[in-house]
Amino acid sequence: MPEAPDGPEVSLVLRSTRVITPEGVRAASVAVADGRIAAVLPYGAGVPAAARLVDVGDDALLPGLVDTHVHVNDPGRTEWEGFASATRAAAAGGITTLVDMPLNSLPPTTTVGSLRVKQEVAREQAYIDTGFWGGAVPGNARELRPLHEAGVFGFKCFLSPSGVEEFPELDPAALETALTEIASFDGLLIVHAEDPGHLAAAPQQHGPRYADFLASRPRAAENEAIALLIALARRLRARVHVLHLSSGDALPMIAAAQREGVRLSVETCPHFLTLTAEEVPDGATEFKCCPPIREQANQDALWQALADGVIESVVSDHSPCTTDLKTPDFLDAWGGISSLQLGLPAVWTAARARGHSLADVARWMSTGPARLAGLTGKGAIEAGRDADFAVLAPEETFTVDPAALHHRNRVTAYAGRTLHGVVRSSWQRGRQITDDGCTTDDGRTTDHRTGRLIERNAV
Ligand SMILES: [Zn+2]
Repeated sequence: MPEAPDGPEVSLVLRSTRVITPEGVRAASVAVADGRIAAVLPYGAGVPAAARLVDVGDDALLPGLVDTHVHVNDPGRTEWEGFASATRAAAAGGITTLVDMPLNSLPPTTTVGSLRVKQEVAREQAYIDTGFWGGAVPGNARELRPLHEAGVFGFKCFLSPSGVEEFPELDPAALETALTEIASFDGLLIVHAEDPGHLAAAPQQHGPRYADFLASRPRAAENEAIALLIALARRLRARVHVLHLSSGDALPMIAAAQREGVRLSVETCPHFLTLTAEEVPDGATEFKCCPPIREQANQDALWQALADGVIESVVSDHSPCTTDLKTPDFLDAWGGISSLQLGLPAVWTAARARGHSLADVARWMSTGPARLAGLTGKGAIEAGRDADFAVLAPEETFTVDPAALHHRNRVTAYAGRTLHGVVRSSWQRGRQITDDGCTTDDGRTTDHRTGRLIERNAV
């Protein structure tokens, strides 16, 4: 096996007949040295005497997934989720890097001081690499540059009420102030895009009927907010990212803005791609999220936009709560869908039915989110990147049993569904993540957790 004369020694070779590389799917042996991918070699390449060989056979080797949209809620609402449970669930779902949202924890991540509090809480608990978004709220524009310099990946804001009082939305004037400041250091603004005027004008009908809830969060609210963001991003030449796009109606203007050169990127979520409004039972508020799951025809438009490259990432928006907050009244219930552990099989199940490949799924769920966050060491199986992997049995099926989830609260919209794609294992920097910690170079298990705190441009 070729090896740079001065390079670190290869300690692990992972072999699969289906390695998902940027150039396509092929049989290969992936050599790992010092936690990084040293080389992607032919399948039958020799293994150095000192290295451990792990042959996963026909299971697929994917780059570890990167989930840039996770609400860990720790500290402050730790009963909703926490860094240990969230990162364990993520690893069980093939995710090896997550970026935590700035709200639903207490404190919210709107100052450097609160970022430090969250980092300290996460440090000893994280099974996988963990980074942080900052928050842009009314009155904290002067905190944004210090947060940027402290390593947050960008800033989240809302244009309509967030659902928690400690994280208020920005009105158009405050949005412009924040984005002007963020553009001054070429930072990134990520936005929950629903227009408050359209939401206020929509009928607000209490009760268990999903159709009433859907009518309360119309597509027009998303479309209007996105139009505002496009205009502002164009004028300020700023980087703006639309979070959890649900409305397919907004796609033509997004595509046009991208063609024109506006610095606009878009994500969507597993639930928008795999669940439909038509199938939500009355009172089933585990399906509630904002913006909402829409109709089948809308879902088809989102898939087309993924195929066209207009939407470049698929991330969970894992936003759990305690079960008592999922009341049967759709207006009152907490909005959020938990899917850290299930996103990969859910998306793969729908993707394969639509004729997409595992390479597509890896591009949407690893490469795209890594690029959004500027994580140049993640997102692909190629030499020089971190040795982060997900091993997936793509043809194998399982039925979702909430009891098998590592989420702190085992409420899921996917309960009882049969999905394709069993995650066999997840690896970080060449170590297999286990229930307690990880494996060592010689394959023993330890209680050491591989997760590190990651910062913008530092990995
Ligand atoms: Zn969210």
